[in-house]
Amino acid sequence: MKYAIVIPDGCADEPQESLGGKTPLQAARTPHMDRIAQTGVVGRSDNVPPSLTPASDVATLSLFGYDPLQVYTGRAPLETAAMGIRLSPNDWAIRCNLVYVDGEAMRDFTAGHIASEDGAALMKVIQQQLGGPVEFGDLRGTLEFHAGVSYRNILVYRGADSPFAADTRTQPPHDIPDQPISGHLPQGPGSDLLRHVMGRSRPILKDHPANRARIAAGQRPATQIWLWGQGKAPSLRQFAQVYGKRGAIVSAVDLVRGVGVLLGWTRIDVPGATGYLDTDYAAKGRHGVEALKTHDLVCVHVEAPDEASHEGKPDEKIKALERIDEHIVGPLLDALPSYGDWRILVSPDHRTPLRTRAHAYGMVPFAVAGTGVPPAGQNAYDEAVAAAAALEFAKGHQLMKWFLG
Ligand SMILES: [Zn+2]
Repeated sequence: MKYAIVIPDGCADEPQESLGGKTPLQAARTPHMDRIAQTGVVGRSDNVPPSLTPASDVATLSLFGYDPLQVYTGRAPLETAAMGIRLSPNDWAIRCNLVYVDGEAMRDFTAGHIASEDGAALMKVIQQQLGGPVEFGDLRGTLEFHAGVSYRNILVYRGADSPFAADTRTQPPHDIPDQPISGHLPQGPGSDLLRHVMGRSRPILKDHPANRARIAAGQRPATQIWLWGQGKAPSLRQFAQVYGKRGAIVSAVDLVRGVGVLLGWTRIDVPGATGYLDTDYAAKGRHGVEALKTHDLVCVHVEAPDEASHEGKPDEKIKALERIDEHIVGPLLDALPSYGDWRILVSPDHRTPLRTRAHAYGMVPFAVAGTGVPPAGQNAYDEAVAAAAALEFAKGHQLMKWFLG
């Protein structure tokens, strides 16, 4: 049996006034997803336990069949795995966004979707001036800043005596759009070090040539780093060991491919995949179809619907969904039957309502079709059909076992 999973990140939403009361999934023209609904079954699942923060880290673990309450240690360690950075048991990984703060408010958690070259130049000077051995109070450790893709970078803290603990609180910057940052700075054990480093990044970045060039070009500068999502390395049992299938992951987002890498999936990098609205959908679809030849299960993740929600753009969200349907779901549906037995699953990880422009708790709609899945008499893949469905996974990680049959 061959399996395909398509993840339109954050696509689950609410009815929009601007769309005549439809959700983006309902407003988008998605004939292939609807065919999956009509020939298979639509249900709903909850990928985010109430005690954890709704985001792609927790929700992706659930979607891939792992209970986040058992295995989740933080977001940054998952991305660190994708970047090939090794963590010792005592080390902490911390997400290090380049952000645009203006008037002491979080204006842009992406610093204008900063180009990776600009981001790397800024992170280099951050590493030069803030990296290396750290002496902070009684604390002795080492700080390592690693440049990633665009605004997404990683700070690694290495040291025997760790300043952080499970109750260290940090704030995902994408969940406080345009809000004052003062009430959202790190709190709890080790937070004074995090606040100190964040504060020191401001004068370092202020007059950097890369930032000056961005301002001159009408782009947003990166005014500081924002630290969040800290955690130690998780220990995850290999997917092949737990579920007996060889997997592959196609994604432009370090977090998502990091989860895949930690599960033992093959990481497939696609030229032109950006993790943004302008990603090369067709290339992702082609690589997904190609990977089916050599793997039991291929997962294609697309970040664009989530980004469209963060920017509050219903039209972009619809466009992203239509492109996913045409260039990824369609080609996979065409290719799968040539392998004999097959199944396909379409599901977002979590909800990202346009109204709040932030991730949210709650059930997400999924659709499954293929061998041994009888039609449930539903006509479309959307939130309303899922809400009326009989099939429900209150613990989202249980969906994988059911999907694999
Ligand atoms: Zn998001």
